[in-house]
Amino acid sequence: MTATDPSDHPTRHLDEAIRSDALDCVMCGICVPHCPTFALSDNEADGPRGRISLLLGISQGELAPDADITRHLDTCLTCRACETVCPSGVAYGRLIDNGRARLAQESSHAAHPKPAARHWRLLRDQLLTRRRRLGAAWQLVRLMQRLGLGGLTRRLAGPVGRALPRRVAGPLSPQPRPSDTQPTRGRVGLFVGCTGAAMNANAVAAARTAIAAFGYEVVEPAGQGCCGAMHAHGGEPAEARRRREANAAVFQAAGVEAIVVVGTACAAELGPLTDSHEITVREITDWLLARDQTEWPDVARLDYRVAVHTPCSQRNHLRQPEATRQLLASIPGLELLEIDGNARCCGAAGMQVLLYPDQAEQLREPKLDSIEQLAPDVVVSANVGCATHLAAGAKLTVRQPVELLAESIAAASR
Ligand code: SF4
Ligand code: SF4
Repeated sequence: MTATDPSDHPTRHLDEAIRSDALDCVMCGICVPHCPTFALSDNEADGPRGRISLLLGISQGELAPDADITRHLDTCLTCRACETVCPSGVAYGRLIDNGRARLAQESSHAAHPKPAARHWRLLRDQLLTRRRRLGAAWQLVRLMQRLGLGGLTRRLAGPVGRALPRRVAGPLSPQPRPSDTQPTRGRVGLFVGCTGAAMNANAVAAARTAIAAFGYEVVEPAGQGCCGAMHAHGGEPAEARRRREANAAVFQAAGVEAIVVVGTACAAELGPLTDSHEITVREITDWLLARDQTEWPDVARLDYRVAVHTPCSQRNHLRQPEATRQLLASIPGLELLEIDGNARCCGAAGMQVLLYPDQAEQLREPKLDSIEQLAPDVVVSANVGCATHLAAGAKLTVRQPVELLAESIAAASR
């Protein structure tokens, strides 16, 4: 079940859904030490058990969501580390999404909805989810950096500037050459998303190369758009569902046997289409791992030391914590390194990096320290948000695992 849609149901149905999930919690506290925001503040209300209590109180009409309560619920990263360790099977992800939908309803009925929320919603809807606009803005940032004006750009971009990578990666030169293999095994649709298309062009190019090398035709339907993840976790489940449905229609019309997604958060958001529309949705790393051994193209040795970052959307939402390591293990020569605290959210968490930058940077710091000590040749992450956040804190180029595979395939075919 996805978050209850407040546009379809009156508040009481949303309250019932919240209450039903919250009452599964036996308040044992096993999840609390796994929560990154609790670790920062040491405040019960910033941990899963406290947040569940707050949501239960709101749903039962015993608590009014004032500014303090809203902040405790708002600062949750929806990383779902709590959910993976909960012995009672509390559906925390669904609970917090429903809780935010409940808060959004409250705020939309208020005489003065929070100006900050409006401001960030505008940024999300007018830039971050608009592929062309974001692509143009990204290229402008890159140009400014090449002119030696990166610091000025970060300052001029105001609060967004803190989240910009210190070095925006340009297209790899040369790009991995698409395979000469004739597609014979099937036809898959490549989902590149909105932020991913603009900020992750090398990974998208690598995905095309890798899929083709496995013998599949790659289709990129023009009508695809934002997956809706930012809306789903921002209290707008109806809009998230609308976007998911629109993407389903576009890919169904393209007649593909699977939607292969570049980006773990988008894959998690589109995942329910597998049940509701009988369309297979798989994140690119996972799709590649599912190929039969006979389909694998030749791969060449890459002598890199690779620090592996595992996004929460891959570890806790998709429940594929080992996928990146397993894929990279198929490339000879790579030495895989463990980043300290890899199981803990880096703080990016979709829009959270913009909404709560101090929290995001505090959570990133230990990871950057660990990466500095490891001194890898390459850092990999299967999520563009995490990659961008890490690269905003240090001069790093963070690549997606599929990029290394495509490089290895291209090297083997030379
Ligand atoms: S989703 Fe993450 S940040 Fe939110 S309560 Fe659970 S562990 Fe804490
Ligand atoms: S969410 Fe699960 S682990 Fe956390 S306090 Fe409730 S029952 Fe315990």
